[in-house]
Amino acid sequence: MSAANIFKRYLTTPRKIIIMSLMVGFVLAICVSALNAFWLYHKREQSFDGLAAGIQDYMRDYFHELKSVTDALQPLTVSDCKAVSSELTPKAAFNINVRSFVLINDGKAYCSSATGSVAVPLSVLVPEFDLRKKIDMTILPGTLRVPGRPIIAIWYQNPHDQQRGIMATLNVNLRPYLVFASHQRETASIALVVGDKAITTLASGVHKITPQSPLPLRIATLPDYPIKFYIYGEAWSAEDMLLSILVGILFGLAGGALFGMILYNRQRSGKEIWQGMRRNQFYIVWQPVVESATFTMTGAEVLMRWEHPEAGNIPPDAFIHYAEAQQLIIPLTRHLFTLIAKELPLLVGVLPQGARIGINIAPGHLHSPEFKDDIRKLAASLPTNYFQIVFEITERDMLNENQAVSLFDWLHQQGFEIAVDDFGTGHSALIYLERFTMDYLKIDRGFINAIGTETVTSPVLDAVISLAQRLNMTTLAEGVETGEQAKWLAERGVNYLQGFYFSYPVRIAQLIEWQRQRAGK
Ligand code: C2E
Ligand code: CA
Ligand code: CA
Repeated sequence: MSAANIFKRYLTTPRKIIIMSLMVGFVLAICVSALNAFWLYHKREQSFDGLAAGIQDYMRDYFHELKSVTDALQPLTVSDCKAVSSELTPKAAFNINVRSFVLINDGKAYCSSATGSVAVPLSVLVPEFDLRKKIDMTILPGTLRVPGRPIIAIWYQNPHDQQRGIMATLNVNLRPYLVFASHQRETASIALVVGDKAITTLASGVHKITPQSPLPLRIATLPDYPIKFYIYGEAWSAEDMLLSILVGILFGLAGGALFGMILYNRQRSGKEIWQGMRRNQFYIVWQPVVESATFTMTGAEVLMRWEHPEAGNIPPDAFIHYAEAQQLIIPLTRHLFTLIAKELPLLVGVLPQGARIGINIAPGHLHSPEFKDDIRKLAASLPTNYFQIVFEITERDMLNENQAVSLFDWLHQQGFEIAVDDFGTGHSALIYLERFTMDYLKIDRGFINAIGTETVTSPVLDAVISLAQRLNMTTLAEGVETGEQAKWLAERGVNYLQGFYFSYPVRIAQLIEWQRQRAGK
């Protein structure tokens, strides 16, 4: 991207500001929505993890406790029911959720904490138990005595005698787990699963887990016990999405509006230019003007440059217009005057007395009430009686005819000269030439360009030159790039020449060097 293009980004029109703000707002809305959604999702995941961990801890403690109780009861399995039932019954009564402990010997239940002596094969009570295992577990829809209430039955084998053991039956109470779950923002449902049977908080009774059953979000397990907790819930909720979108839209609106305001303020205050002046980003270059008869330097034109820290070298065409649009051309020209006042003394003795220094004046400044004052200050800041200052003003700027006439008279009285810049590119130039007293005509480089490219050189250029001569105006050709052009113009009687053929606009040190070398020749 060229410097000019980069800078154009700063030259934002209201439409551009709106489009850019909308874009910024849109992107911000999407980013904030996504971030917010991600954050909510993460929080939800975390709380499900917490729920699973909580349930796991609770279960581990509960079954650990139960195991130590049954371990203590195991010695009873070698005794007769009568001898032990008085010990067995209170054990069950004092354990939360324990409905009964049943002593087993050789596959038969022979002593229950609830009913005393019994004689029922365990395979009738709980057919799915595998008594060869140390611990086995199942869910039963109910018992003979309390049929409708599901229970969990657990088999604990006697560690010293594989034929004997204890069966504990537990009331299923999911309430404690629901307490955990209530910390969840949405009520998650929970299922207690053993094998393919499940009891859930959603419906009563025992359910069968099939491949079609909904998948849980989390599964809490226990080592040693074939029991699992399924935790159901939503990883995403419509509410969260809506919230995220809403937050995104709010941020987008606020961000877009803020961005627009910043751009607008920056543009309105021309902050870039003020900053540029404060930070000395503007500097001046000098382009020699030579006499066409001898090619010796008789003066120079001052041109401004802006070295922008981000955009690089910004061409004056771009920033002069920008400054005009921001109403900053006056401070900028004053800044230019201070730069000139600093450097011009260095040319005393380098250029002959009376050398002409061309300074471009923007129309906005010319017609402002401060103009005369600024010019007086400039005059006071320059070396006295040495240089001849020539203000360069384009044809377009003379439209305010009456004011221009009196201004030009005043400038002449103050000892300044006036040049018509870019002559030939304006509109009704000729009529002004008669009315205004101007000292120089700077023929626009557009005409000079054509010299040498056509066999018959521009008749317009011929006409312009002869017109200036008829009006007794001194002529200067701008944009002379070749020796052929210089020769052609000199032959036609153009008084002064300026262009890359002689020198590019250069820093003052180079200008002095350039002059020294030529003088030494
Ligand atoms: P301008 O007043 O017509 O200045 C002459 C321009 O022609 C300069 O461009 C100069 O570098 C360029 N030039 C000189 N010789 C040649 C050549 O042989 N070939 C070509 N192609 N170009 C040549 P620059 O410096 O880019 O300035 C552009 C315009 O910006 C100026 O046109 C002038 O209107 C404005 N400008 C520059 N400095 C100032 C300033 O300090 N104040 C104001 N108000 N306007 C300025
Ligand atoms: Ca000029
Ligand atoms: Ca010009």
